[in-house]
Amino acid sequence: MTIDLAHVRADTPGCETVLHFNNAGAALPARTVLTAMKDHLDREARIGGYEAADAAAEDLADFYAGLAALLNADADEIAFVENATRAWDMAFYGIRFEPGDRIVTARAEYVSNYQAFLQVQKRIPIEIDVIDNDADGQVDIDAMAAAITARTRLIAMTHVPTQGGLINPAEAVGELARAHNLLYLLDACQSAGQLALDVDRIGCSMLSGTGRKYLRGPRGTGFLYVRKEVLDQLEPPFIDLQAATWTTPDTYEWRADARRFEGWERPVAGQIALARAVRYALDLGMDAIEARIKALGAGLRDRLTGVPGVTVHDLGRNRGGIVTFVKDGLTAEDVKRRLADRGMNVSVSAARSAQLDLPDRKLDALVRASVHYYNSEDEIDRFCNAVDRL
Ligand SMILES: *Cc1c(COP(=O)(O)O)cnc(C)c1O
Repeated sequence: MTIDLAHVRADTPGCETVLHFNNAGAALPARTVLTAMKDHLDREARIGGYEAADAAAEDLADFYAGLAALLNADADEIAFVENATRAWDMAFYGIRFEPGDRIVTARAEYVSNYQAFLQVQKRIPIEIDVIDNDADGQVDIDAMAAAITARTRLIAMTHVPTQGGLINPAEAVGELARAHNLLYLLDACQSAGQLALDVDRIGCSMLSGTGRKYLRGPRGTGFLYVRKEVLDQLEPPFIDLQAATWTTPDTYEWRADARRFEGWERPVAGQIALARAVRYALDLGMDAIEARIKALGAGLRDRLTGVPGVTVHDLGRNRGGIVTFVKDGLTAEDVKRRLADRGMNVSVSAARSAQLDLPDRKLDALVRASVHYYNSEDEIDRFCNAVDRL
């Protein structure tokens, strides 16, 4: 299967108005996703919010079935959470750390995740082992293996960092986690919808993602996967009437499935729209999506490398659709602003949000151009010409 570019562009209203290379920030939705969202809001206004949710029960159920299909999981291993950070938090803060426990992580770790390590470390004396990159700039698997001790409780890793094209070797990490029987929490926020993911092949016990990035869903939506076998090793940090049943005045019982990590109230229209976005991706085929994004990313990287004064800064052996660069004489913010004046969207990754990564590479900010399968080769041409002329 390959992607029919004309078809997916015609399906994407935003393709007519903007050159969007900020898909790692928030991708443009397909028309069907937008329609699903608007239709549900209309229905809520017409018949009432609770009644509209009842009427949409099948679409809501498809959220769990669709994400399960996307990840090769079971529907009862999926929870709806309002964003990737909170999804990751629900798993992380559910681990009962004890003094002396160790967390193994990598340089690509997302800012908010690392902040959570630091917060827990203030309450409980735990150790954080940050594994260095290998010569290719991806996490060094041998170094990770050597860092694992009897006190290691968790491997937490970001699959694709927010600040670069790197794809970390999630499956090799999974082998280590399995061999040592460790919890493995994978931040798949940039890889869900970009790469074909299979939680069994990866070997992770928990995985978090967001709706608005490569999945092309709405803002304010996300999800958590928790493997059945580890469900009872975690205790959700929050409880409500959705997560647990109040069985007697003095007792409660957690739900039997991963939805114990959910809260009751949520953007129902958003959940339905994300379910639609997941189906849209599955219909196109994740292998075809991954192949096109990688090809476009490689093409953009290649073209930018040839632009005078431009330096591309992506790490890793295996790279995806996020392309980071700097241009001599201009700050990353300047580049972003001047491209915006020409109707071209990019974003900036700042060192402050990547403390384990960019300062080490003597970088204080990068321009981030992130492509999706609906971007065209023609857009890459126009973009590189524009960067050249800035
Ligand atoms: C964007 C991002 C997050 C946070 O996602 P939210 O949905 O904004 O909470 C987490 N990890 C990575 C790698 C990201 O790029």
